[in-house]
Amino acid sequence: MNLTAPSQVADLLRRHGFRPRKSLGQSFLVDQNVLDRIVDSADLSPEDGVLEIGAGLGTLSRALAARGRQVISLEIDRDLIPVLSETTGDLPNLQVVCQDALTADIDGLLETLAGGHIKVVANIPYYVTSPLLELLLERSGRLSLIVLLVQKEVAQRLVARPGTPDYGSLTVFAQYHAEAELVSVVSPKAFLPAPKVESAILRLTPRPRRSLSGEDEARFFQVVRAGFSQRRKTLYNCLRSFPPLGLSSELAAQALAQAGIEPRRRGETLSLAEFARVSQAVESRRAAG
Ligand code: SAM
Repeated sequence: MNLTAPSQVADLLRRHGFRPRKSLGQSFLVDQNVLDRIVDSADLSPEDGVLEIGAGLGTLSRALAARGRQVISLEIDRDLIPVLSETTGDLPNLQVVCQDALTADIDGLLETLAGGHIKVVANIPYYVTSPLLELLLERSGRLSLIVLLVQKEVAQRLVARPGTPDYGSLTVFAQYHAEAELVSVVSPKAFLPAPKVESAILRLTPRPRRSLSGEDEARFFQVVRAGFSQRRKTLYNCLRSFPPLGLSSELAAQALAQAGIEPRRRGETLSLAEFARVSQAVESRRAAG
């Protein structure tokens, strides 16, 4: 069966009496070129273990299993399990796990995939994009690559440069953990049923190691959240009026002076390195005060 042929997919769904649910982000990929581009972006080798989130009809799962060593594919919808048995049941190196990716034991699954590089490759359900990104990026140290089909706007936010409207705390979070690249934009026509929005292939290459550890990292992200908390205000005003940071006006001014950052700048203009300098300065001013 050709799972990228819309007529064959429609027939498969009809035979199983399956109606795609928008609430679960069920838009199935039916474009061979896009499928090839996703798999090519993942640079899969026969040693790679792959985690997929959202098996759907098994279209991407099959392509991943053909190139990788072992594939584990999570799917929340049990009504898809009989469909997946038909479309992927012949593949010994593919295991479909019927669980919610947000509550599944992801660390345990990554453990099962150990023995080579581990990659995440998925056409994710868009309604859970932010929690999934967080979950994956927090584990980026154990992953060699993350390739995701996401809503185009999300990909644009993740690759944004400082000073542009798309640059925000999600950008900094992602770029702190990984190098982000928008591989290509994907038309709604590549899916059945077609979503209302454009999509994009996003490639995240995890950084070999985190540049900050423990408390320093937590404070860095607090400063970043403060910096984006009120987009129209200066960084100085954001820092002194962000309760979780607990900074007086005086300490905020001192920290910015020590970091060499002009207090009238807006948070959205700061690079990751500049946020890190402010975060260090906050710590040293607090210690001194
Ligand atoms: N991989 C398939 C493809 O490319 O055609 C399906 C992609 S579809 C956009 C997303 C899939 O994720 C759906 O099959 C949906 O049921 C599943 N899904 C939705 N929420 C999920 C969750 N929280 N955990 C695991 N799978 C989920």
